[in-house]
Amino acid sequence: MRRTITHIGEHALAPASLMMSYGFDPKLSEGAIKCPVFQSSTFVFESAAAGKSVMQLAYGLREREQAEDPALIYSRINNPALEILEDRLALWDKADRALVFASGMAAISTTVLSMARPGDAIVYTAPVYGGTDFLFDKLLPQFGIRCHPVHGDLGDAAMQQAVERARAGIGPGGRIAAIYAENPANPTNRLIDLAMLADLARSLDGQSGGRPKLLVDNTMLGPLWQQPLAHGADIVIYSLTKYVGGHSDLIAGSCVGSEADLAAISGFRTILGTMTDPHTAWLLLRSLETLSLRMRQAEASAWKVAEALGAHPKVAEVGFLGFVDPASEQGRIFARQCSGAGSTFSVFLHGGEAEAFRFLDALKLMKLAVSLGGTESLASYPAGMTHVDVAPEMQRAYGISDNLVRLSIGVEEPEDLIADCLQALDQV
Ligand SMILES: *Cc1c(COP(=O)(O)O)cnc(C)c1O
Repeated sequence: MRRTITHIGEHALAPASLMMSYGFDPKLSEGAIKCPVFQSSTFVFESAAAGKSVMQLAYGLREREQAEDPALIYSRINNPALEILEDRLALWDKADRALVFASGMAAISTTVLSMARPGDAIVYTAPVYGGTDFLFDKLLPQFGIRCHPVHGDLGDAAMQQAVERARAGIGPGGRIAAIYAENPANPTNRLIDLAMLADLARSLDGQSGGRPKLLVDNTMLGPLWQQPLAHGADIVIYSLTKYVGGHSDLIAGSCVGSEADLAAISGFRTILGTMTDPHTAWLLLRSLETLSLRMRQAEASAWKVAEALGAHPKVAEVGFLGFVDPASEQGRIFARQCSGAGSTFSVFLHGGEAEAFRFLDALKLMKLAVSLGGTESLASYPAGMTHVDVAPEMQRAYGISDNLVRLSIGVEEPEDLIADCLQALDQV
């Protein structure tokens, strides 16, 4: 890792301040203030011996020497912008290390494939993102990996029972490889107690092959409003396409965690080729500079828009995390785990699909598109878009009802967004 300033005297600098400089030495790039795009597939070795030595390191044939800064090899393995981006991403979650991927789904699938083997099981809290649902429900079973969703009651006892059920179905030599949670869930914003899941994972310490890893998809609130590593998660996964990328102009993903946990995932990424490219890495470095500004502004606006919608007679309910009852179980989890409510929430209109469609088609400023976390506000219809592949009875069980519209609030003036929503509600 390249050393740069992280403290002024005893004073530690915040991630938001380090995003413009951390890990990049202008002297190595002609004094450029910004890290250039190293649009290069391969890198020149200093000598044949140096090439052999760094390849041995890359293949795990020798240990890294103290203070060794490994040379660059080939952009499927490493690239300057990718490494600087990973160093900066790790800061937000106070992680040892981050890995960046070509998409959120590349991050999820590479991580899961690195730890689950035929005969193993994965227990996950539902609903999850539509692509993750497809991976767990349709693709991993083709490799003999059984994935067990848990929905409804996600309390301690219900989770323990789900794990017992999963264990009962495991073949000889199999194990529970991972407990996977999306928190909050997309699109319902249901929260789960991560410390409880971490205890559950630890309680399986005795199984052969070691305890399951707790994987948490933190796309919706992270890295600003929730830091799952602090609540016992082993690996935190992001779709960087959303808030971190933040401009709806790239697709990428990441995971963060300990050096030991990420080493195996990194090996799989190198061979599966699921890393991102130098240009996308550079765009993400640009995005990280305003991450805190964007997420704070969007959250402040989301409060205003959610309040205006909640007060409207055509709206039955607004599923905004800021509105959870502090005395409820969800409220207690929110207070313990989250430092902000984020800016993606659901709006339940009186009526069903017809009313939802009239509202969506009448919006003028907000765009009708899947995705979230960008500078522009987006509106979508989960039951018929992101979660269209989830069977109708499961949609109902998960709370993805036909009157649910999902909004992702961006950085426009909140009064303009409210005006847009109110005129669209007039058309319902
Ligand atoms: C979008 C999303 C993903 C998938 O990310 P891609 O970058 O589209 O591959 C995974 N999880 C959540 C919560 C998401 O919103």
